[in-house]
Amino acid sequence: MADPMEKLIREFRVPPGRQIDLRRDFDPGYTSRYLSRQDARDHLEEGIGALSDFQDRLYAQNTYALLINLQAMDAAGKDSTIKHVMSGVNPQGVQVRSFKVPSVEELDHDYLWRNFKELPARGDIGIFNRSYYEEVLVVRVHPEFLERQQLPPRMKDPGIWKHRYEEINNFEKYLVNNGIVVLKIFLNVSKDAQKKRFLARVEQPDKNWKFSAADILERRHWDAYMDAYEEMFNHTSTPHAPWYVIPADHKWFTRLAVVSVINATLGSLGLAYPRVSADQKAALLKAKEEMEQETESPEKIPKGKKGKKA
Ligand code: AMP
Ligand code: MG
Repeated sequence: MADPMEKLIREFRVPPGRQIDLRRDFDPGYTSRYLSRQDARDHLEEGIGALSDFQDRLYAQNTYALLINLQAMDAAGKDSTIKHVMSGVNPQGVQVRSFKVPSVEELDHDYLWRNFKELPARGDIGIFNRSYYEEVLVVRVHPEFLERQQLPPRMKDPGIWKHRYEEINNFEKYLVNNGIVVLKIFLNVSKDAQKKRFLARVEQPDKNWKFSAADILERRHWDAYMDAYEEMFNHTSTPHAPWYVIPADHKWFTRLAVVSVINATLGSLGLAYPRVSADQKAALLKAKEEMEQETESPEKIPKGKKGKKA
């Protein structure tokens, strides 16, 4: 039977080369009429198990790395999605990096510098919790960020965004050509759901720490952000590194969709445990033989010397 998520994954993908209308084409409240909440929970568990298997092979094969760029408006559920989706994966094979407002040192470099340093090694999954995409989102919505970047004056004209899309596409092409698979996920939360989650952060004491007054200021720029996201998708969803717009008003569905997209991406790589050569196999058998021939040591630890070396 075909995986019911397969069709959905195709629906979430921003088709490279086509123009999308973010608000018309993608519904943040979508949960697919085929899945109940319980259905989703069972599928999520399966998905988390499958991801763990893929990650094991990714690590053993040591050829590819997976970079997941996670973008969203505040309170869309980036952190909790990472926590749930990665809950079954060997922690040694996953790194999460969060990119905040750039430091003075970071501003003294080109904008990809800080991301470059944090790219996952072969065999690993790297999650960028926000990424270089902020350079065409928050920096576009707030031009004062651009002012702080020490750019050559001729670059600071309205053509800069097109340049950046092109630079990002080229950068990702370079990564993909070198075995670093690039998966880009946008958690698409509605303005109403964001409000509900913000209110919960104000009203529930154990959520107060998550709330920042600055989040309300950003909310005022909602439409400018949606425009910036839409244009970004239309320029940077490429065949080598497509964007996925994941409905984010229902967290149980978000998690299932995210794990499914990750598994579909890893599943397309043909990951396999490395096969050992005839020589290596012979060496393994020799080692086995040697261990089998070891005589059992009946040595007894003298009384009073437990745990101490003689
Ligand atoms: P959060 O992820 O909610 O903890 O917040 C991090 C903040 O850093 C967000 O408001 C981002 O918009 C901001 N940020 C991330 N990258 C950049 C960037 N390149 N330039 C300016 N602000 C950024
Ligand atoms: Mg925030």
